[in-house]
Amino acid sequence: MNVFVFAIDGASPDLVNGWISRGHLSHIAKVKGKGLSGHLESTFPPLTGPAWSSFQTGVNPGKHRVYNWLDLSGSYEGRVVNRSSIKVKTVWNALSANGCKVGLLSLPMTYPPEEVNGFIVPGFLTPEKAPDQSYPARLTKELTKAQPGFQYGVNQYFGGSARSWVQDIKETVSARGQAARFLIKQELSESFSNDNEDVIFLVHFLASDSVQHYLWDRVTDDWDPRLDVFNSIDEQIGSIMELAPSDSVFLIVSDHGFGPVERIFNVNNWLRKEGYLKLKRGVGTSVKRGLSGIGFNQHKLAPMGEKVYGMAKQLGFLSGNLMNDTTHPLLKKSFLSTNDVDWENTIAYSRCDIGHVRLNLAGREQKGILGSRHSSQIRDEIIQKLEQVTLPGSDVRMADWGKPKENIFEGPYLQHAPDILFNPLNQKTLGFGGVMFVSNKQFVSPFRPGNHRRDGLIMACGPAIKQGTVNASILDVGPTLLNLFSTPVPVQMDGKILREIAPEQPSYTETNDFYIPHQPTKERAGSREKLEGLGYL
Ligand SMILES: [Zn+2]
Repeated sequence: MNVFVFAIDGASPDLVNGWISRGHLSHIAKVKGKGLSGHLESTFPPLTGPAWSSFQTGVNPGKHRVYNWLDLSGSYEGRVVNRSSIKVKTVWNALSANGCKVGLLSLPMTYPPEEVNGFIVPGFLTPEKAPDQSYPARLTKELTKAQPGFQYGVNQYFGGSARSWVQDIKETVSARGQAARFLIKQELSESFSNDNEDVIFLVHFLASDSVQHYLWDRVTDDWDPRLDVFNSIDEQIGSIMELAPSDSVFLIVSDHGFGPVERIFNVNNWLRKEGYLKLKRGVGTSVKRGLSGIGFNQHKLAPMGEKVYGMAKQLGFLSGNLMNDTTHPLLKKSFLSTNDVDWENTIAYSRCDIGHVRLNLAGREQKGILGSRHSSQIRDEIIQKLEQVTLPGSDVRMADWGKPKENIFEGPYLQHAPDILFNPLNQKTLGFGGVMFVSNKQFVSPFRPGNHRRDGLIMACGPAIKQGTVNASILDVGPTLLNLFSTPVPVQMDGKILREIAPEQPSYTETNDFYIPHQPTKERAGSREKLEGLGYL
């Protein structure tokens, strides 16, 4: 059995199917036409880190412990997560143990690479110059020698010519495709010719996510930058498929979909107004509060252009996505940030780019004050109030619902989950909680025109796969891959085997080493800057 997985970050079924029906994306269309296609529901909220973690483990975040790009246990700053933050065994581990050859290229949340029967070249948070940039370590050198243009991530958009940035990220797509072909030929082709050997190869494309974040609103009659990037990904998929043995199974998956963003709901400003988040009373904080109130804040100053954004980036916010690296110490002192929060009197806060609220729980948070006796009452109160928030100038509610964590997640690491989750109406509002307060307003205009939707896509074709529709959860992909390779599925997995793709009679295993005990991991140098660069922190 040979399986090829094409992971296209942020590919939406509606956009991709629309392009296919207009004659674009011929290779993706071939997979769709020959086999199954449908919707792949992402994690809630649909964040890249947790979603790819669930993809490669088959479990919900309550079991793998990755809820966000940041692990906030014991630190309000948070530590950027990586593969070591995933607290269950991956499907790559199980497949390797069963003798399957595994080859992964650029999948997020695979750094530091684990030992597999094959190779892993990790995804975009791989630190530069780390000694463990690939497994086996020799591959880093071999790959960069053979493909000097190979990059672990994609360059961010600094404003200016959208066309030249799109050209640049398309070059990373084609370098990624070349790297895939190099690795397949060097590391896997021998196994293809051995009928007794199973092989799985996966390649991930990130440029699809970046272009939709930054250029969602730049579509004109002449040019759709999103399609431009998807066309280049399609071309690479086609050329990789040419290397595949004729009886291969092809899977195309995304971690979430995409859509427009109309406004940001600034969760921390709302919590402040409701009295759950308190600022320090010192002179410095008071001055910043006053300045923020009269409009001297990041959001109002943003139109001043590149310089201000540069300063904002220096402040650890706004990500450098629109500017150069100029800085100004005065501004650094002038904006309200988590440094100004009076944690000893704060009950709740948010540190996530889509819809989380965390209670300041004693014993879990760095300076937690809330005991377990009062926490559920306060939590219910916050949920109720969140559900009453209306969009500016209307009586339309901001969120469809708010829910306590146990309604969304389940597992041994539930304690570390954000305590409240809410779903903004039509997902056109972004529930955002950053290090900075950005402005004194509850609603502000978005920093970037596009953001994630829960609706991802799945397509599959192969000798035993019939034509039709399949709708699934991202948690189902892991157990399905295991069953495709006749590997028993651990009973702890939440996802189900998609029998339309993996028709073999399922077998299950009760392993008692499925969970990996949690030990705090160190943040790798450079990963925070990369996430900020992509506008995630
Ligand atoms: Zn993503």
